[in-house]
Formats: sequence, C-alpha cells, structure tokens
Amino acid sequence: MRASEPAGEILSEEQSDESKELMPATKDYYGILGIKKTASGEEIRKAFRKLARKYHPDVNPGDKKAEEKFKEISEANDVLSDPKKRKIYDQVGFYSDNIDPATAAAYAAGGGRPGGYAPGGGFGEGSRGQGVPFDFSGFDFSDLGGAGQARGGPGGSSFRDIFSGIFGGRGGAGVADEGPEEGSDLEYQVNVGFWQAIRGAELRLNIARQDVCSNCHGTGYLESPGVCPECKGAGQVTQTSGRMKFNVPCPRCGGTGHPRTVCNVCRGEGVVNRTDPLTVRIKPGTRDGQRIRLAGKGNAGAHGGPPGDLYIIVRAGEHPVFRREGDDIHITVPVTSTEAALGAKIEVPTIDGRTQLKVPPGTQSGQRLRLREKGVPSATKDGVRGDQIVEIKIIVPKVHDERSKEILRELARLNPEDPRAEIWPKV
Ligand SMILES: [Zn+2]
Ligand SMILES: [Zn+2]
Repeated sequence: MRASEPAGEILSEEQSDESKELMPATKDYYGILGIKKTASGEEIRKAFRKLARKYHPDVNPGDKKAEEKFKEISEANDVLSDPKKRKIYDQVGFYSDNIDPATAAAYAAGGGRPGGYAPGGGFGEGSRGQGVPFDFSGFDFSDLGGAGQARGGPGGSSFRDIFSGIFGGRGGAGVADEGPEEGSDLEYQVNVGFWQAIRGAELRLNIARQDVCSNCHGTGYLESPGVCPECKGAGQVTQTSGRMKFNVPCPRCGGTGHPRTVCNVCRGEGVVNRTDPLTVRIKPGTRDGQRIRLAGKGNAGAHGGPPGDLYIIVRAGEHPVFRREGDDIHITVPVTSTEAALGAKIEVPTIDGRTQLKVPPGTQSGQRLRLREKGVPSATKDGVRGDQIVEIKIIVPKVHDERSKEILRELARLNPEDPRAEIWPKV
C-alpha cells in the first residue's frame, strides 16, 4: 500500500538528477576518484595516490581550486578505502560517522520503497544539530525508524542522526564552514609589585584580542539589496539525500535570499584584531604565578560562536626584606649574641608594620620563630592568613678594647664547651 507519497518539502524522487550539484554531502565519491563502483581496494588506493600527487597543496601552493580538489579526493578516499564506510556509502548515498551499519542496511531496504515513509506528525528534533537548520515540520519519519527496528537495527533516532549527519556533519562542505566557532582563549602575563599582590590592585591593561567585526556584525558577510542568483531570492535550495529531497537554506546567501559578499574588513572571518583597555582586579593575597580567569574576554568566536576566555597570569615582584612563600612571609632578623644568650624582646618588621618578638634565652643562629597570622591574607580562603617566619641571625660583637676581651675570656672559662663535639662521631 502506498500509504503516503512524499509531499511538501520533500519533492518527488523523479527530479533527483537535476539538483545533484547542490548536495554538499551526497557526493559521487566514485566519480571523484574516477573509478567504477566495483573498484577493488587496490584500484581505489592507486586512483587516490595518482590524484593526490596531482592536487597536493605542496605541489600547488596558493591554488585554492587544487586545495578544494585535494580535500574532495581525500574525503572520497577516506570513505571508499574503509570497507565499513564504503558499505554505508553504497547503501545510503553518503557517509556520516553517525550512521550505524544496521540503520544503513535498513535504510537501503526501505529506500527501495519510497512510499515507506508517511507524512504525519512532526520531526521536531531533526534540526537539533548545530548545522544549517532545515524544516521537517509536517513529516513523520517514524516509519523509517520502524523499518530499522523490524530488521533488528536501532530505532528512529538513528535516522535523525542520518539527517543531522547530512547537514551538520563534516561532509557539509561550504555550508558547515560557516557554522559558529568558539573563540580561542587568551593568556597574558602581568607583572605586579610585591605590595600590589598582597594588598590587591586594579590594573588597567591593554589587551589585544579578536573582536566581533563591527562592519558585518560577526557574520563575515555583507548583504546587499537584490536577489541571490543561486536561489533566485527564495532563500532555499533543494538538496538530495539518496532518494529523498529536502529544501535547505541556500548556502550562497545563507537563506536570506539576497546577494552576499564577503566582508572586506574581516575578510569573512567575522572577527577583527583590536586592542581594548581592560580593568582587572587583583585580589589581596594574590600569589606569584596565579591565573585569573575572565570568562568570555578571550577572542571572539567566528560566525556568532561564543568568545573564549582570558587568563591573566600574575607575576608578583620581590621585596628587599620580605620573602614570600605562598601566604607566609619569611624574614631574616639579626640579634646580638647577648640578646640570643639571655633572651630579649625585639621589634621586627611585618607587612602590617612593627611588632614585638620574644627571643627565648639560648636562641641559636638559624633558628626560626613563628609569628602566627602575620603573613599574607589568603586570596582564596576568607579570613585565613599566613604566618611570618623570623630566622634568627646572631651577630657577634666586634670587640676592640682590652676590658671587653677580658670579659669574653672570663665567659669562656666559666662555660667550657666544645660546639664541634657532636660533629666528630658523625664523620
Ligand atoms: Zn566583517
Ligand atoms: Zn540564495
């Protein structure tokens, strides 16, 4: 029973030959390689190598046509040299990674009966791919899916994949090239002073980045009044997939129906290079090497794609007295041998100003004393501060007068000790 004739957006299959050139995805791979449909793997390989030598970009520098041709034969070879891909291509009339073999087999079987699909409900998810949207409203492809299931293949979703493969897949040639592309991330290194990193700062930077072209508003094209020569102003052209035909947005005018020319400012990229002032806040406690992410401040995306991110890498400067390790501040403080021997309260500098430090009696040179929470406030943990580590450096008195020397000799007599005694057993 011919339950349904293809109607509406799907034209009858008798017209399929006229519009073959308009099909970006349904290419004649055999014709491209100049081989018969029955060609062996070896014949395919030979044909490809011969053509590849002729059209390789290295042999034809700057020749766009040769480049296109090389891409074409590479694509044909990619599919035909792989027996699995070739089988799907033979069955369906095109190849996409999204098609699984069982579905292709079912499609080939179902395609022999063009009445097998019925107009009916919607095909809402058909245009979910990010390729060119196309109108399937008013058609129900569930019968096709049913055919797949009846032969043990997967259900209707695979057929949707076929369709998204036609229009959104990498085989989509010129049409797919214009799809939105995400902008790339940018990375800038910024030198800040020691105190700026600790106390925070507002930096005014000039960031060179790719911005949306204001001449074409990022589309890469300029539209002019008049009628597109390709679609005669309809905005749609007919594409064929196997035995089915679809109306899709015209690739030449992008569905506008008006002539388009490549934007002369951005040369079709949709983005231009420009330098913009940007104010970046550095949090108090920012560490050397820290990356600050500014979402969406990277390069603009092409053809309406989202922008990338901007990363600021902070390089914190040094200080003549304070040495920073993470959130801790290190400092070396000289004390006299008397202060070290007897103990003392001394004043030491911190990043907040002077503070009192108790040096315990008998402190040795190189000993480290900790001043809790006198370090750097953490940039990542609220209310948390590092410590200040004070390294003691004992300064020996320079005695010149006889009286002082006598006192030191007296001291040595009273405290006979050999500081090197512990070394010998270890040698
Ligand atoms: Zn532009
Ligand atoms: Zn057009």
